[in-house]
Amino acid sequence: MQENNFGGLTSQEAERRLKEYGYNRLKSKNRKNPVGIFFSQFKDIMVMVLLGATVISVFMGEIYDAVTIILIVLMNAVLGFIQEYRTERTMEALEKLTAPTARVIRDGKEKVIDASLIVPDDVILIEAGDQIPCDGRILRSNGLWCNESILTGESEAVRKGSHDNMVYMGSSVTKGNAVMVCESTGMNTKMGQVSSLIDEAGNSETPLQRKLGTLGRVLCLICAAVCALVVVAGIIRGEPIFDMLMTGITIAIAAIPEGLPAAVTIALALAVRRMMKRNALVRKLHSVETLSCADVVCTDKTGTLTENKMSVTKIRTSDKEFAITGNISADKCLQELMNCAVLCNNAILSENDGIGDPTEVALLVAAKKCGISPESIRSGCTRLSEIPFDSESKRMSVTVSGHPGTKTYTKGAPDVILKTCRMIYTESGILPLTGEKKRELYEEIDSYAAGALRVMAFAFTDEKTGYDVFLGLTGMLDAPRAEAKDSVKALRKAGIRTVMITGDHKLTAEAVAKEVGILRRGDMVISKDELDKMSGKELDKIISKAAVFARVDPGDKLRIVQSLKRKGKTVAMTGDGVNDAPAVKEADIGIAIGKNGSEACKQAADMILLDDNLSTICEAVRQGRTVYMNIRKFVRYLISCNIGEVMVMFLSILLGLPVVLLPTQILLVNLVTDGLPAMALSLEKSEKEILRMKPTEFSGSFFSGGLLGRITIRGILIGLCTLGCFAYSLYLGCALETARTCALVTLIASQLIHVFECRSEHKSVFRMNPFENMALVSAVLVSAGVTALCIYVPFLSVAMETTPLGLPEMAWSLIFAAGVPVASGLLGLITNRE
Ligand code: ATP
Repeated sequence: MQENNFGGLTSQEAERRLKEYGYNRLKSKNRKNPVGIFFSQFKDIMVMVLLGATVISVFMGEIYDAVTIILIVLMNAVLGFIQEYRTERTMEALEKLTAPTARVIRDGKEKVIDASLIVPDDVILIEAGDQIPCDGRILRSNGLWCNESILTGESEAVRKGSHDNMVYMGSSVTKGNAVMVCESTGMNTKMGQVSSLIDEAGNSETPLQRKLGTLGRVLCLICAAVCALVVVAGIIRGEPIFDMLMTGITIAIAAIPEGLPAAVTIALALAVRRMMKRNALVRKLHSVETLSCADVVCTDKTGTLTENKMSVTKIRTSDKEFAITGNISADKCLQELMNCAVLCNNAILSENDGIGDPTEVALLVAAKKCGISPESIRSGCTRLSEIPFDSESKRMSVTVSGHPGTKTYTKGAPDVILKTCRMIYTESGILPLTGEKKRELYEEIDSYAAGALRVMAFAFTDEKTGYDVFLGLTGMLDAPRAEAKDSVKALRKAGIRTVMITGDHKLTAEAVAKEVGILRRGDMVISKDELDKMSGKELDKIISKAAVFARVDPGDKLRIVQSLKRKGKTVAMTGDGVNDAPAVKEADIGIAIGKNGSEACKQAADMILLDDNLSTICEAVRQGRTVYMNIRKFVRYLISCNIGEVMVMFLSILLGLPVVLLPTQILLVNLVTDGLPAMALSLEKSEKEILRMKPTEFSGSFFSGGLLGRITIRGILIGLCTLGCFAYSLYLGCALETARTCALVTLIASQLIHVFECRSEHKSVFRMNPFENMALVSAVLVSAGVTALCIYVPFLSVAMETTPLGLPEMAWSLIFAAGVPVASGLLGLITNRE
């Protein structure tokens, strides 16, 4: 009955046209190419400073220094390039995965294809929630409404049909369905013409990155001031100007945490990849951070908390109840109810399973169990029109001819259907639906719903009288997912409340909510009627106690999110239908359901759940928190090390000592400590207790929990011990070059020790197994190896102006390095800080 008569293109024809017209894409986004990525590495401040240093060196005839600096700049650029290139690839893969798809008729069959492969004359099926993939003409439509705000700025949806039969790329279907034929694609569409709209690629800088960027700029300013101070002080003291300029530059190099913003992006991108493996597709990077501090998760019931595998277990006609355990034989009333269930239905039953809405598939399966063949009912009818189901009206109607004559069948939420019914279909014909009978039916509905059944009612419109005639009810079982209970529990432990928002009956919702542990003593269940009566303020008062919102419309979700946000909550909200899109957009973390989710909702979402599972949200929170903690870890590491380096240089000048480290040596320190070890920290696995911490621990200032104090103290200790080692070496009569090499070893070693301490904010380094993060162990070994090479390989040691250290020098250098954690521990004991 519902097959279309539109043959569509053949695959060969489509291929030919694709060659002729090109891909159905708008001007491609500005993804960087590898060459661009490489050259962008030279744009940052540190490289500018270094290039300044090179120019000064060349000018002063220090060609050796200049070459070394350039080599190190190149190595830094290569490292940066590798990291950024990988991030770009991940983002590109993500974009491909989230690219819109479209349902087309090709070779006479319905196929889902990438929207970019659509060509002119393709026949496309669209329905509520879809984004229109190209410009085209409607061939047939059922109550089609489109939102064309992206083109016209008009936020009201417009009716499409015979009077206005053009639809445009970028607009979305808000209601109904249609078959359209493509007329233009890509840049030939209206959207293509308004190409200024397209460069909305946007700046994907995350709030955290912005915070860190500001921090970086503050540090730069401080360092510029310190540099100026040192240079001026040195020159006044009579030091050579060139030496002082170089020292100033060295301090600048030491202080700029230039790798930080890149490291954050990489950490986030890695988390995105990990989440993808766990079925959570992140569309916007910043949502990874936001996830860490989510404190309310608002979720649908069907599919997320339940299996979305419906089966009809009970059917109730005017005066009989049927338990659908095995096959049963249908009487007249059941037969008519099933006619409605089969005809007012868009699902198809194949041999092994069904295609379409699981609710509708369940009805077809039930019909078969009643000995009724859906195919034979459908083959005798022609559908004349359809008012599609949507979560707002909670009903669906079709008018069919040939049964015999013309008949309108309706199915939907029982309260909605019963409201309009004045008659009831019985064995003895159509009778008035009395108040008493209605009450009896409502009681029946409540008892079905209290048993966690999803209830649906059926009716038809009597042609003679124009009255709606009630046919009966079905009760469907949709079992809670096995993982739902554990996920709700895990989220609660993590300080996150789960709220169920459903279009289903209050009692069904309540029963399921109790079963999965969302509804506990003292919690409230709010129905749409109650919600409608509440003002915004009244809603705000009870919102923290509400665990279930039942029989609500998608539009109500927006009110709920806004109320939660007014109460200062960070809200994650799931959605699937097109009407959910505003709420999903409004939520701090909008989550689209992947399997049956509409394109509009997916486009509005920050994250897509590929398996529609609440446990995936739980996992995503864990990943979000892990990445936040890991970023804190490497910020702690990088900044304390930078402070240490600046302290060494600054104090040596203040104390009138020779310059401790030369520019090339500071560059070496940056290369071996800031690069690999910091990156390896972002690979740290999540700590066990991460899901036992409260959301507030992730939402405060980035340096909350005394982190800034710890960072500063550690930086000062690194600086003092390095300076101590340098002074001690000089005191023992070592040559300046040897003393510098000793200081270099102390500085690098103390940082490489510190990186292990940064693995956890809660556990001491002795309580952690260092081999849990083999990447970190390897990174540290590589860094130590490179340092050793720079000291012991003759030509490298000449370039770095180091001297090979003997055993005693090496020993005291390392002892000074070990002094840092010891001093820090003692300080902690005294101040009770660490
Ligand atoms: P959730 O919002 O958690 O997914 P839900 O699936 O029950 O819950 P809706 O899809 O909005 O919410 O359905 C609301 C009600 O509409 C259902 O309880 C059911 O009675 C009725 N209903 C569901 N699907 C259909 C359909 N295809 N045709 C007619 N009525 C339907």
